[in-house]
Amino acid sequence: MADIQRRKSVTVKVGSVRVGWEVPVVVQSMTNTDTADVASTINQVEALALAGSEIVRVTVNNEDAAAAVPKIVEGLAKRGITVPIVGDFHYNGHLLLTKFPGCAETLAKYRINPGNVSIGRKDDDNFRTMVEVAVRHQKPVRIGVNWGSLDQALLTRMMDENNQSATPRPARDVMMEAMVVSALDNAAAAERYGLRRDQIILSAKVSGVRDLIDVYTNLAARCDYALHLGLTEAGMGSKGIVASAAGLAPLLLAGIGDTIRVSLTPAPGGARTEEVHVAQQILQSLGIRSFMPQVTSCPGCGRTTSTYFQELAEQIQGYLRTSMPEWRKQYPGVEELKLAVMGCVVNGPGESKHANLGISLPGTFEEPKAPVYVDGKLFTTLRGDNIVNEFKEILDRYVEEHYGAVSAGR
Ligand code: SF4
Repeated sequence: MADIQRRKSVTVKVGSVRVGWEVPVVVQSMTNTDTADVASTINQVEALALAGSEIVRVTVNNEDAAAAVPKIVEGLAKRGITVPIVGDFHYNGHLLLTKFPGCAETLAKYRINPGNVSIGRKDDDNFRTMVEVAVRHQKPVRIGVNWGSLDQALLTRMMDENNQSATPRPARDVMMEAMVVSALDNAAAAERYGLRRDQIILSAKVSGVRDLIDVYTNLAARCDYALHLGLTEAGMGSKGIVASAAGLAPLLLAGIGDTIRVSLTPAPGGARTEEVHVAQQILQSLGIRSFMPQVTSCPGCGRTTSTYFQELAEQIQGYLRTSMPEWRKQYPGVEELKLAVMGCVVNGPGESKHANLGISLPGTFEEPKAPVYVDGKLFTTLRGDNIVNEFKEILDRYVEEHYGAVSAGR
């Protein structure tokens, strides 16, 4: 597999986390709790951090939220959670950041939306105020352009210029160009107001996959600022997951993107942490970073005897997910482990041999036994009703023997 040549961006420090081409692509997420509800926000940030989110953004939309930020950061620290917290500001960030210096100080980064920070003004004093607070507290900012709240004055001017041109371009192209211009112009202004290049991250989020690829390809070619990638308003379930993967993959493979977020709409009652797992899975599927052992499983077909093998695949996947927070600390490198869970012996043994650990269940009319392969060799054959637990025991032993302290020191 050819190495990915990362685009050479400036490296930015966001709290304890570095973002830029010299370090691996960072996974981030955002809470959906009311930030003023300190206890709920602490709980959700903790869940996101434990799931693997390396930066967590919270909305700071009013005075109660701004006042809550230091309490949230303190509460998290008491639980041993030091994930950098980013404040998401719209409309009134200049007021909140100046009135609540505790909020300005405890946040690790400010997200500024240039499309709505100076609404109704002819100057950019609100933007300048936010940048000056960032300079005073030595915090990085993300200048986050979003097509749903693109600077309307800029867009109108660019559309007018385009209409008067001898060879007008399609309106869609002008809009994509306006996204890039908004990000670059505001970054230049932030530098004029005192931020260093290594304190600026840019994003230009749209909700269409091909628009996303075009706008970031263009933005990446025109600057060396660190870039945060994400398909905004990706949607729910498989639509959101597939669209995010389809949009982010070509960019990441082209070396574009220093942080990513997957903006999924959670199902009612669904876990917010899903967006973290999807972001990790995108990076791991592309061979960019490893986060957790991967399970190869076949789709099943008429040869499978029952749903038993689907249940086994699901139970193994769940077991890995619940074990990983502890395994990550105890067993460095365990995220590289590969497992295969196959429905019958047609491809089962072959696929199992490519994995560290593999099991193939009996298909219809096959003998009721499940061969287990360890590092390509037949290790044992499981029979009876306790196959899942026995396979988990083999898995635990393998992890201990191959990634435990003794083997790590070898
Ligand atoms: S491994 Fe067996 S059960 Fe799975 S898809 Fe192939 S033939 Fe079907």
